[in-house]
Amino acid sequence: MKKDILVLGAGMVGVCTALALRQRGHAVVLVDRQAPGRETSYGNAGIIQREAVQPYAFPREWMAVLRVITRQGNDVHYHPEALASLLPTLARYWRESAPGRYADTVTAYSALIRHCLTEHERLITLAGAQDLVSKSGWLQAYRRQLPFEQAARAATAVAQEHGLDCRILDNAGIAAAEPALLHGTLAGAIHWRDPWTIADPGELVNRYVRLYEREGGIIRRGDATTLKQQGSGWTVTTDDGPLTASDAVVALGPWAPALTKPLGYRFPLFVKRGYHLHYAAEPMPKLPLLDAENGLMLAPMTRGLRLTTGAEFAHHEAPQTPVQLQRAERYASELVRLGAPVETTPWLGARPCVADMRPIVGRAPRHPGLWFNFGHAHQGFTLGPVTARLIAELMDGETAYIDPRPYDPGRFARL
Ligand SMILES: Cc1cc2nc3c(=O)[nH]c(=O)nc-3n(C[C@H](O)[C@H](O)[C@H](O)COP(=O)(O)OP(=O)(O)OC[C@H]3O[C@@H](n4cnc5c(N)ncnc54)[C@H](O)[C@@H]3O)c2cc1C
Repeated sequence: MKKDILVLGAGMVGVCTALALRQRGHAVVLVDRQAPGRETSYGNAGIIQREAVQPYAFPREWMAVLRVITRQGNDVHYHPEALASLLPTLARYWRESAPGRYADTVTAYSALIRHCLTEHERLITLAGAQDLVSKSGWLQAYRRQLPFEQAARAATAVAQEHGLDCRILDNAGIAAAEPALLHGTLAGAIHWRDPWTIADPGELVNRYVRLYEREGGIIRRGDATTLKQQGSGWTVTTDDGPLTASDAVVALGPWAPALTKPLGYRFPLFVKRGYHLHYAAEPMPKLPLLDAENGLMLAPMTRGLRLTTGAEFAHHEAPQTPVQLQRAERYASELVRLGAPVETTPWLGARPCVADMRPIVGRAPRHPGLWFNFGHAHQGFTLGPVTARLIAELMDGETAYIDPRPYDPGRFARL
């Protein structure tokens, strides 16, 4: 039976969800308070991360935790005033990162990641977005020999276990793969060859939106937090008046708690904020590069070389404190001829994270007709079409192509 469905939030996850439902013949309205794809799905590093079978765990070694607490290193930063309220969720994140539980999460996570290229490829072809895609992979680079050798061994084992293609490059190999790099800074790199990279992540979301509209999907501006249960359905207020539907999907990324909390759901959600700034690098590198020991990523984009930062633990809406970006700029200029910044102010976004490192996808436990699809953390750009297909199959009462139980919102019922 075809339904009327509201999809709330038009980032990569919401747009792909609306598209998957529309392609199955449902009447879909996608609601956002601004133009689609302008938030987290715009500002990321643009990698469709086929290699990301292991989600980011909380460090378990005390030395690594101490390094974070004392703010050594550039991969993690935090606002001390946010810690008290974050502590219970971070404690749960730490527990979920214990070896046994983490192994289960890797199994669940890799089951999603496995489908990212095929699901994106189908949409990229239909949307005519091939011009945005590069299929040359990316480099995970190290400056010191010992961390490089350790990472190379770990990457080789992961690649073997999950059927991934990675090449281990020494300094000369890096120079051959990426001529734009300044010589001699790096000891070695892992070249992940499966992932695809996108020259303008926000534009890929836009192309998917145009495909959705061509297929008869509707977009409206409105505030998702006005969602109300009405009779057996749901109503949201938009600029064009109220809209009612039998079903609603929450795909609000880092803003999901603004809707789920008032409905009584206490999910262990938090954000890892991240910054970016573009530079007029000359020459422009071909491949994205992670400077793994300094917590920065350089991603060649249409606007320039996008420098992105690691994780900042802070309240979602707290003012910018781009200290990681300032340090990253110094490190990056040791790697490439960075050039002048393209913008005067950095972009700030927030990765929507769940303490057990799995997105929340499925039926809302206590509200008929309400569905959740959020919490994609570091890989929402990668996983948008994957969990979109999953939730569309669940909403149609079909056997899903991936076992949905590890991502079921009901797993937090005890909370
Ligand atoms: C620096 C950085 C680098 C990253 N790099 C990568 C990468 O290389 N690969 C990868 O896969 N992932 C990456 N990520 C993660 C990825 O960007 C996110 O996981 C993903 O964009 C989340 O998508 P989303 O659709 O859930 O959220 P969003 O894109 O944030 O979309 C949420 C939408 O909800 C809307 N909204 C919010 N509140 C309301 C409201 N009240 N009413 C109506 N609408 C509302 C917003 O306007 C927005 O459009 C990175 C993230 C960061 C910060």
